[in-house]
Amino acid sequence: MPPIPGSGLAKGLAVTLRTMTRKTVTAQYPEVQPELPPRTRGVIGLFEENCTVCMLCARECPDWCIYIDSHKETVPAAVPGGRERSRNVLDRFAIDFSLCMYCGICIEVCPFDALFWSPEFEYAETDIHELTHERDKLREWMWTVPEPPALDPGAEEPKEIAAARKAAEKAAAAAAAAAAEAQEDQP
Ligand code: SF4
Ligand code: SF4
Repeated sequence: MPPIPGSGLAKGLAVTLRTMTRKTVTAQYPEVQPELPPRTRGVIGLFEENCTVCMLCARECPDWCIYIDSHKETVPAAVPGGRERSRNVLDRFAIDFSLCMYCGICIEVCPFDALFWSPEFEYAETDIHELTHERDKLREWMWTVPEPPALDPGAEEPKEIAAARKAAEKAAAAAAAAAAEAQEDQP
């Protein structure tokens, strides 16, 4: 059967009318910032104090876009007659975000919790070289890393918190014992 003249136009108008009554989903970025999920992979922050320069992240990065330089320093013995120790000192830590594919492997493999995801994504550059973020810039991203989500009810207490709590309890008990002793000594 041949199509009714004007049916195509009517169909098109019906689609237009249906769409006009629907709620708009257009994001008004950059006037309105998007509401990103908490675990968004925007940029990587470096918590330098935790980094031992073990090189695991650089070795595991599939894109070879983590650049680390370091040197060794000798730490004198803690006690007389003890052994000197050597430790790695970080000279350079940089990530080239023009190569990074945001796989998160570096963050997963870091054994010392020195790398974190931040949801920040506004760091586009007109010069590609500027996408290599050096340690100072990577540190600045740390301030934008969200707090970790709360533990599940009934989850095991993390060992760092348990150790800190035990140390605080021990210190409080020692302080209380010292105060009691001082009171007993008073005439
Ligand atoms: S997220 Fe993946 S690609 Fe990017 S620096 Fe880390 S390991 Fe390399
Ligand atoms: S894996 Fe972690 S501790 Fe090791 S070099 Fe990378 S950031 Fe530093």
